[in-house]
Amino acid sequence: MRKEDCLFCKIVAGEIPSAKVYEDDRVLAFEDVNPQMPVHTLIVPKNHYDNIGDGIPDDEMGYLFNTVKKIAELKGIAESGYRVIVNTNDDAQQSVHHIHVHVLGGAPMNSGDPSAK
Ligand code: AMP
Repeated sequence: MRKEDCLFCKIVAGEIPSAKVYEDDRVLAFEDVNPQMPVHTLIVPKNHYDNIGDGIPDDEMGYLFNTVKKIAELKGIAESGYRVIVNTNDDAQQSVHHIHVHVLGGAPMNSGDPSAK
């Protein structure tokens, strides 16, 4: 399931390069091009869904979020801690409308600051 003119679908297809962190048959994780923290990795499902409200099947959603732990381990932040963010629609400033999980860490963060990515 791919959507035309979707940036992250193009990254999944290898048509736009990315700094890959992890890939399997269902998800791709790659470095955010504009990192907000020392570790800032994005995880996307290979299938296209606009956002968290786009009727994502439970198994797809579960797989996506279970990948977070893998990425935290690969990036060496599983023990130190990390923040997981899923921006959804305009008020949250979602800029790429293919659901993605931000995994942020590598340094202490402000607690609970909703504007911090
Ligand atoms: P959001 O604002 O939650 O939609 O996040 C979109 C994220 O995608 C931003 O943090 C961008 O820096 C990041 N981004 C945009 N284009 C690329 C790209 N080509 N490769 C990697 N990350 C990107």
